[in-house]
Amino acid sequence: MARDARVVAARSGESVNPMVNISQEHWPTSRWEQEIRVRLGEATDGQAPLVNINADDTREFDAIFLGGGAGGRFGAAYLRAMGGRPLIIDRWPFLGGSCPHHACVPHHLFSDIAAQLMLERTFSGRLWFQDMQGKKVSIKDIVEMFRLGRTGPHAFMNFQSKEQLDLEFVLGSRARIVDAHTLAVAGQIYHANNLVLSTGASPKPFTIDTQGMEGVFNYASLVDTLEYEPGPTVVVVGGGKTAIEYGCFFNATGRRTLIVSRHQPLPMINDAETRAYLLERMAEQGMEFWANAELTAIEGDGRVSSVTIRTASGEFKTVATDFVFLGLGERPNSQEAQDTLGVEVDTNGAVKVDTRMQTSIPNVYAVGDLTGSPMEMFKARKGGMYAARNIMGEEAHYHLKEYPDFMHTHYEVCWLGLGEEQARERYRNVVVLKLPPDNPDGQSVALPAGDRMMLYVMMKPHLSGFQKLVIDGDTRRIVGAFHVGYGAKDGFQYLAPMVRNGLTVDELGEMDELFLNPSYFIQLCRLRAGSKVLRGM
Ligand SMILES: Cc1cc2nc3c(=O)[nH]c(=O)nc-3n(C[C@H](O)[C@H](O)[C@H](O)COP(=O)(O)OP(=O)(O)OC[C@H]3O[C@@H](n4cnc5c(N)ncnc54)[C@H](O)[C@@H]3O)c2cc1C
Repeated sequence: MARDARVVAARSGESVNPMVNISQEHWPTSRWEQEIRVRLGEATDGQAPLVNINADDTREFDAIFLGGGAGGRFGAAYLRAMGGRPLIIDRWPFLGGSCPHHACVPHHLFSDIAAQLMLERTFSGRLWFQDMQGKKVSIKDIVEMFRLGRTGPHAFMNFQSKEQLDLEFVLGSRARIVDAHTLAVAGQIYHANNLVLSTGASPKPFTIDTQGMEGVFNYASLVDTLEYEPGPTVVVVGGGKTAIEYGCFFNATGRRTLIVSRHQPLPMINDAETRAYLLERMAEQGMEFWANAELTAIEGDGRVSSVTIRTASGEFKTVATDFVFLGLGERPNSQEAQDTLGVEVDTNGAVKVDTRMQTSIPNVYAVGDLTGSPMEMFKARKGGMYAARNIMGEEAHYHLKEYPDFMHTHYEVCWLGLGEEQARERYRNVVVLKLPPDNPDGQSVALPAGDRMMLYVMMKPHLSGFQKLVIDGDTRRIVGAFHVGYGAKDGFQYLAPMVRNGLTVDELGEMDELFLNPSYFIQLCRLRAGSKVLRGM
């Protein structure tokens, strides 16, 4: 660690730690990586914060961003780009927040592995594929690989923030809110004209007390603390995105995977046929869904050895397992802001903001997961940007519009707009274009045939994906789109604003496809666009 750097004098009133001033240093990513690795390996309490503050800049800070995750870092960067002076304070020794540390990035790693393993298991022993019969892949090795690798993105974000974005920051120490303009960090007091709360969210606590019991994980503790190889059975609690995404990964590693959910799984996918396709394919991969059920007890001495589940029929069943994964959703980290500032929150503890990202307290803004659902990167980053614009004197309103969404099973799944059932409630003439088509003899048609699905197309056509466009036949406007397979996510980012602006079948049919493409939407529309009266297919 850079103990040679200048120690900044600390003020009284807090437990005082020395501060390591790095403002005159220009560390490459390798140096950052080394620093972060050491700090993550140590107890965080008592660490000397890393301070990057330009002593030559005598301006008051326009805003302190409390939390340097997606919302805080992007907000600060935008404010800086507009000529303002932001300061970011984060308890972790890196910027970027939970996404690269224990949320999106490990999720994508695990989902990539699940997709790869599904390919290997489906074609096990055929062509060049090894025999996967009975083969288990080590979860511990994968987690350790991630734990080692995640300091790379952390280091890059620190490097980029300091050297390329000219951001000032204090990292590696928890901040305490003093008032709407003041934060205390390790004995030092920081003032600003505005405060942007960007403290994110944390996994919801479980109703059963599992304190001191090894073997119960959530998405954060899994990558931070897993130290043993999970046994043959995994129990996942929850039916939402995190539960299913992680469940598919555990299943793909070769473990029996039970999904225990109080409701039907995948409630966020608002099209019944798409949902059914996914559930059927997951079941084919061996996932077990215990819906309308509840985990009522976790047994074990030191480490979990079994769980008790109340099933949909009211029976109590015991399942032997040493690994329980909780995918229960998240709760905004708003307690301190409520206690010290009195910011208004909703019933879930989400800080209430207006379209300028302003809270109920003047000069206090809030962005990201702290402001509640949807808890997604785009909302955190855009929220940060809108807070910055308003702080810098622009009147800018962020209206959260309909947005595209995605998740992973063993596949990549994307959706936007209305599901078929919702569309039928709203429109009298709903037309659906989909692949594969309904086949009179029930035989699977090898469509869609997109990139990265071609082996399935040739050898297991019923696994080659699913897609659907939902259209208001009267106006010819596209009102919903669904895709199961790979490679359509990028397209959905651009499709969503076009659909919001009234994209029609005819306009989509006018576009130029890069055949062979994953979604087939353009060519399906072109096949139908010539007809005055639209028909489904
Ligand atoms: C398993 C999982 C997978 C996900 N995958 C995706 C995905 O694929 N795509 C997507 O768009 N979204 C995904 N998300 C959501 C995404 O991670 C969040 O929406 C995003 O990270 C929120 O950013 P944020 O800035 O609000 O919070 P965070 O990034 O969590 O930042 C909050 C920061 O505040 C700091 N902090 C908190 N309190 C203090 C304090 N008192 N003092 C100092 N610092 C403090 C924390 O250290 C942290 O750095 C996923 C979430 C989970 C849980």
